[in-house]
Amino acid sequence: MLYFDHNATHPLLAPAREAWLAATERFAGNPSSPHRQGDRADRALNEAREELAGWLGCLPHEIVWTGGATEANNTAVAHLAATREGLALVSSIEHPSVLASVRRYFPDRHELIPCKPNGEIDVQWVRDILDRREAACVIVMAANNETGVLQPVSDLLPPCSERKIPLFCDAVQWIGRLPVEQVGQFPLVSGSAHKFGGPVGVGFLKCPYALRPLIVGGPQEDGRRAGTENVPGVLSMIAALKTWISEIGRPEFLPERLKVREEFEQDLQRLVPGVQILGATAQRLWNTSAVIMPPQRDCRQRWVVKLDRLGSAVSTGSACSSGKEEVSHVLRAMGIPNEEAGRALRFSAGLRTTKADWQSLLAGICEAVSELQASV
Ligand code: PMP
Repeated sequence: MLYFDHNATHPLLAPAREAWLAATERFAGNPSSPHRQGDRADRALNEAREELAGWLGCLPHEIVWTGGATEANNTAVAHLAATREGLALVSSIEHPSVLASVRRYFPDRHELIPCKPNGEIDVQWVRDILDRREAACVIVMAANNETGVLQPVSDLLPPCSERKIPLFCDAVQWIGRLPVEQVGQFPLVSGSAHKFGGPVGVGFLKCPYALRPLIVGGPQEDGRRAGTENVPGVLSMIAALKTWISEIGRPEFLPERLKVREEFEQDLQRLVPGVQILGATAQRLWNTSAVIMPPQRDCRQRWVVKLDRLGSAVSTGSACSSGKEEVSHVLRAMGIPNEEAGRALRFSAGLRTTKADWQSLLAGICEAVSELQASV
């Protein structure tokens, strides 16, 4: 089975699995417990915090462990709403965990940042609003999960810091694909372990402010997030990220991966006339190819089902919105008509995906095309 749905979740990497198993034995105590076993678990957690802070270029104390990025995003938005006056400027292509939080915590004081047809948000629009209105915060993701388009978040850093406006960046799809230090420059950053081969249900929020807890109860995480910390999960996440950092550190890694994806897209366009590559003119994650398939009598679900039967697991967009008939808000923001958006497919590779895997995927797509054409 070819797995091309890593933006939904990346299988656990071997070093992450080993770290998880080792931690369950070595750090079995509750980090809040007063005995030596508790203390050992607490120290392991803090070492992990120091390691991640080193990669992000921030202070260890700025990192709060969470149960994934949905929680980190909810926490960040709730904190910003409770502590800042003015308007939240939020990109229209954010993950639902950000958009729903904004609707909940900034119900009548947010504006959606428009997206250009190439999948990038409109930076000039943000600059213009910042000149005219009081902004509570600016929220833009590092890389979009559905299209892989890299967002011009660093262009927003100078106008935000001049005005002391917090800039929050959901870096879930960036971390483990591109150099992590590049997102460390943003004041608030969220990340999720299972997107880069760590376990599901663990993530973090980097926040330089005295964070208001979203989840209340015990005094864990210095009062910023109640609940017993997931020590094996955190150590496993760090092991996964370390694996990526050493791979990305090889000078040939990123150029090689980009080339394989580009060859795939060129071949796909040649072999399946009418295919449209989303975000083709924008900078994109090397692992993601989002396309609009040519018109068929069938709906998009058939493509996914057909490819699945032929041995390739792909996605119609974000895992969160597939299965529903609703058209993706990301594609809508890019101005793609509903009918075309219904033919969108997303292929997303992982650390262990090879050039041969991309080639087999292409062969599978060609087979699906001829089967679907034959059935019309
Ligand atoms: N943000 C983005 C950009 C994502 O792709 C996802 C996962 N689909 C999330 C946030 C939510 O992460 P988690 O699964 O850890 O809650």
